[in-house]
Amino acid sequence: MVSQVVETTVSVGWILAADVVDATILRAYYQARDIVLRILQDQFPEFSWEMPFVERRVYMPLGALDPLPLAELGAEEKIYRHWDYAIVLVPNELNPRHRIFTLALPSSALEVAVVSSARLGHDEGAAERLAALVLHELGHLWGLDHAPEGPMVPPAVPEQLQVTLFPREQQEAIIAHLRPIADARLEEQQPRWNIFLFYIRTFFLNPREILLSIWGYTPWRMPLYLGRLTAAAAISTIFLLLTAEAWEVGSHLPGNTFFFAPLGAILLATLALFFGQNMGQVTREIALREQAARTRIVLFGTLLLGMSAVWGVIYVISLLIAFLLPRSVLAQWAGINLDTLAVLRYANFMATVGVLAAALGGNLEEEGDIKAEVLFDEET
Ligand SMILES: [Zn+2]
Repeated sequence: MVSQVVETTVSVGWILAADVVDATILRAYYQARDIVLRILQDQFPEFSWEMPFVERRVYMPLGALDPLPLAELGAEEKIYRHWDYAIVLVPNELNPRHRIFTLALPSSALEVAVVSSARLGHDEGAAERLAALVLHELGHLWGLDHAPEGPMVPPAVPEQLQVTLFPREQQEAIIAHLRPIADARLEEQQPRWNIFLFYIRTFFLNPREILLSIWGYTPWRMPLYLGRLTAAAAISTIFLLLTAEAWEVGSHLPGNTFFFAPLGAILLATLALFFGQNMGQVTREIALREQAARTRIVLFGTLLLGMSAVWGVIYVISLLIAFLLPRSVLAQWAGINLDTLAVLRYANFMATVGVLAAALGGNLEEEGDIKAEVLFDEET
């Protein structure tokens, strides 16, 4: 029998980010790494697996940590060391945003997962539970959703975590996901690139995967989580609703404005948030790196869809209000007669102004809030 030909290497670096001195915990970390490595080697022999373990003891092993800087540390190490993925490990609790506690946070945009061993216990089984948790996070980084069996079962309680193999279907999905990624990174193919071309090439290397990543962030839910952004949009909408002149201007906008104004406003709002919130800063390195470019494209796309959703919501609300208000009241108060086209124009105007207000409000969010919201796929 011919032995399996090893095509490409996939490297998943593990980073210990806290100053752990407890020998039991350290041993469990290294054991967990070995378990994960063995499973991946068995299940995916078409790739050759690398799993370096690096100690970057930057945090004290005390108190809860904010996952965002940990993920950024992971992204930086990953890019610097030319890994494909990184797992950032800490013994600390992680500050949750939506849940009571969180065991781990995968970020497929950064291709990094932050994992806490705080709730995994200190007994013999801790290494296996950690390995199971890491497999779950890797599954997310490789584009898998939750499933009723295998590592993608969402762990309700940490004690439930058990090492299992990826079922056949997921195995195939992972291979399809990893194959293009494991090929040579773009910057290794040609030494000098024009920035613009570089981003376009990065996108077209694997457009489907990038679009799926953006879609996976369900950016239309963004307004639900970002209070200040939504408040700014809501205030602008209410204010304009109560202003007779807004009805007048909105319903008389000419055709070109009708079409180009919303596109321009959404793009402008996205740019304002992207740069206002330092979203593009995924690594300190200045050199063009495909992975960093990919992350920026995913973040920008997610924000763009999010702002389009804000526009859509305000549009629908304005449309409803305009249709529900009795025509006679409008005619008396604002002095206009609204036909259907005028109502559509008015809703368009409201949504366009609202989306710009949302961008201003979004820039008042705590630094890192939008980033965390957009970067992490879930709280496990
Ligand atoms: Zn999950």
